[in-house]
Amino acid sequence: MMEFRKLKIKTKLIVVVLLTSTIGLLFTGAGVLTLDRVKQKEILAEEMSILARVIASRSAAALSFRDQARAKDNLTSLLVRESVEFACMYDMNKAVFASVQRKPDVTLTCPDQPREPGEYFYEGYLEAYQAIELNGLAIGSVMVHTSLIDLDRRLQSQLLVSVGILGLSLITAFLMTQSLQRAIYKPIVDLGDVANKITEHNNFSIRASTTNKDEVGDAINAFNSMLNKIEADKEELTRLAYYDPLTKLANRRMFSERLVFALENARRSGERMGLIFLDLDKFKVVNDELGHDIGDLLLKSAAKRLEASLPANATAFRLGGDEFTVLQVGVSEKDLEDTAQTILKEFAEPLILAGKQLSISSSIGIAISDGNDNVSSIMKSADIALYQAKDAGRSNYKIFGEN
Ligand code: GH3
Ligand code: MG
Repeated sequence: MMEFRKLKIKTKLIVVVLLTSTIGLLFTGAGVLTLDRVKQKEILAEEMSILARVIASRSAAALSFRDQARAKDNLTSLLVRESVEFACMYDMNKAVFASVQRKPDVTLTCPDQPREPGEYFYEGYLEAYQAIELNGLAIGSVMVHTSLIDLDRRLQSQLLVSVGILGLSLITAFLMTQSLQRAIYKPIVDLGDVANKITEHNNFSIRASTTNKDEVGDAINAFNSMLNKIEADKEELTRLAYYDPLTKLANRRMFSERLVFALENARRSGERMGLIFLDLDKFKVVNDELGHDIGDLLLKSAAKRLEASLPANATAFRLGGDEFTVLQVGVSEKDLEDTAQTILKEFAEPLILAGKQLSISSSIGIAISDGNDNVSSIMKSADIALYQAKDAGRSNYKIFGEN
């Protein structure tokens, strides 16, 4: 049993199908052949009984006149039937009166005593006894000895045909397992391959395909649904890791990675990149006077306005609190000033939150680099510029290194 469990599904399928077919056919064959054999024996017994009766009725005169020659003639007519090997006639004293046999060179002896009328089966032969009657009185009996060779031959050819049918059935069953394999085994193996590929390439966008409309198809569809869920969860995790849930802007983590990349790019390309720091002016007051929820709404609006102010080569991030940054690549100082002015203009529009008109403004610090800065130095520069803007009265911008 353990060995069977270790077999591949493909082999298991073949073993089970072939074994089931073989057992089924063997039982059916054995049943049919046994029934046929019983039936054939009945028919043979009936035939021999009729033959014996005919000879017995014909031989009453020969026996009563003790005419052995005629008795023998009558018995000889039994030999027309090929399976009859010999026949005997007994007289009233149960002594052999006459006998005939098919093959003179073979010693076949009539039983010493006749048996009661009837048919008796022995190993390989049948004896049929019939009483010879004269005027209702038994004056002797006839015995026909028949071999069962015809029945055996019939059985042999039936067995031969059965073996042929068994062989054909096994071949058909084997061929059918091939389509079973295509329907069951192959999709499972393919599914395993897809799972391995996903693990190997860490690519959860790969899907298993199936044309199966059965349980295997259901399992493959369930597998794909699970992948959809994993992929969605992965996307959600990335979103949570790289985006700010309140404003939906990219977060500090994304900013740090992008800044490294932008500096490296500027150094390689010779283009300049700008870092813009923003901090909302007097934001605490909004929180204190209107509540944290309104503060949140203001942060969301500020994020929207910031994004709306940016050209295509700039990206906005929320660092935390009321601090935002913008990375703008391939820029001149003039471009950065344009961006800063657009932001200030966009922020200057009055804002209506929860039925209240609010004013919103931001101070902006700008640092510009040709790529020869590191992350902390350029951030420090932008921070200094921001503080200069705050010191200069807020709602304005300063470029680091300029007075
Ligand atoms: P300044 O002009 O000097 O920047 O004044 P300010 O009041 O804006 O001061 P500061 O920038 O230091 O204050 C930022 C405040 O933002 C502090 C904190 O209570 C608030 N804050 C930080 N995160 C959130 C947030 O997620 N939601 C809300 N509503 N407030 C926040
Ligand atoms: Mg602030």
